[in-house]
Amino acid sequence: MVAYEELSKEELLQLKSDLEAQFEDVKAQNLHLDMSRGKPSTEQLNLSMDMMDVLRSDSDLVCEEGVDCRNYGVLDGIAEAKQLLADMMEVPKDNIVIFGNSSLNIMYDTIARSMTHGVMGSTPWAKLDKVKFLCPVPGYDRHFAITEYFGIEMINVPMTPTGPDMDMVEELVSTDPAIKGIWCVPKYSNPQGITYSDETVHRFAKLNPAAEDFRIFWDNAYGIHHLYEDKQDYLIEILMECKKEGHPDMVYKFSSTSKISFPGSGIAAIAASDANLADIRKQMRIQTIGHDKLNQLRHARYFGNIHGMVQHMKKHADILRPKFDIVLKTLDKELGGLGIGSWLAPRGGYFISFDSMDGCAKAIVAKAKEAGLVMTGAGATFPYGKDPKDSNIRIAPSYPTVKELKLAAKIFVLSVKLVSIDKLLQTK
Ligand code: PMP
Repeated sequence: MVAYEELSKEELLQLKSDLEAQFEDVKAQNLHLDMSRGKPSTEQLNLSMDMMDVLRSDSDLVCEEGVDCRNYGVLDGIAEAKQLLADMMEVPKDNIVIFGNSSLNIMYDTIARSMTHGVMGSTPWAKLDKVKFLCPVPGYDRHFAITEYFGIEMINVPMTPTGPDMDMVEELVSTDPAIKGIWCVPKYSNPQGITYSDETVHRFAKLNPAAEDFRIFWDNAYGIHHLYEDKQDYLIEILMECKKEGHPDMVYKFSSTSKISFPGSGIAAIAASDANLADIRKQMRIQTIGHDKLNQLRHARYFGNIHGMVQHMKKHADILRPKFDIVLKTLDKELGGLGIGSWLAPRGGYFISFDSMDGCAKAIVAKAKEAGLVMTGAGATFPYGKDPKDSNIRIAPSYPTVKELKLAAKIFVLSVKLVSIDKLLQTK
């Protein structure tokens, strides 16, 4: 492989015309492919279909506390579901509260409550002149959308292979009292698939924030979402770590079964210190008399315990692994050594993050669309949708079939090559 940079203008023009012919061929196939969102495929949803038979009209619907799950009550969630999610989130059962189906919804509520009522007695954020959040980039667009919606100023913090740039995080958090939080996806991060190293987690737990109401928003959405049995990442449990460092209230942890059971109908939870949970329950009591306990019961009875859930995740991995392999193999084979892009091979999660040459991402996504392939919009992985280098593209291989993915990966690499050649020709 010769790097494109090394090629002469004439060689690039020749290559361009060959690639354009290939591109026209795929375009003529009138394809409709979608690698834009991290949605489980129908085959994955079917893995949990038996859950629909767990509760029937003749089932005993009384939970461990002796409450009829059809009725009102049990604000925190039923005991058996709390145990299941506590084990999944690696925290004590008493440090967890179950909500509805969406963890994003809990994160939104958490920010909304902090805006209107403050955090454990502090000034409501809405009454402050300025509220800021740190945003490791690239990151999850829906996190950034929440903070943008509430007018919170977002500050980019670059990701490294071991997590966010902790020198920058420590410096900013310890000096600026307007910084109230940081968005983290600590395991198999969205979109890079990076897991924070032990050192990173230790440094998080040791933070000394200038703001007493600073919170780490630890969104462990992919905690048990491994792709391989023999190659798995390990993440230190942050709640215990913060407690050990004398900062038990500094973190909120979020998770859900969205990509374990059903994204539209799973169960979600927050884990936090006793003091934080007491604060949260004050609002929750006003907000609801209780969440959907039948769905909690269905999940608890279906999985039985965390071991059942871990077994279930292996079935997801068996479906996802070949899809990741196709994309990664195509990237390696077609782009390896060309010097026009870089990517990481994740061991879990839902995404592959691709970095093109600077200034090319938007054009690549547009080019792929010409041939019928929808990608996540370029820029989406940054606050305000603005990627300063215009280089990051999130690839979501879960939804298309293996056959579709082969075509999608081909269109993607062709688009990368064509856009990169145009970029290089500008300087030759
Ligand atoms: N957090 C992250 C990092 C995600 O990638 C996703 C789903 N794409 C969510 C949260 C959404 O979770 P939920 O379905 O529980 O709202």
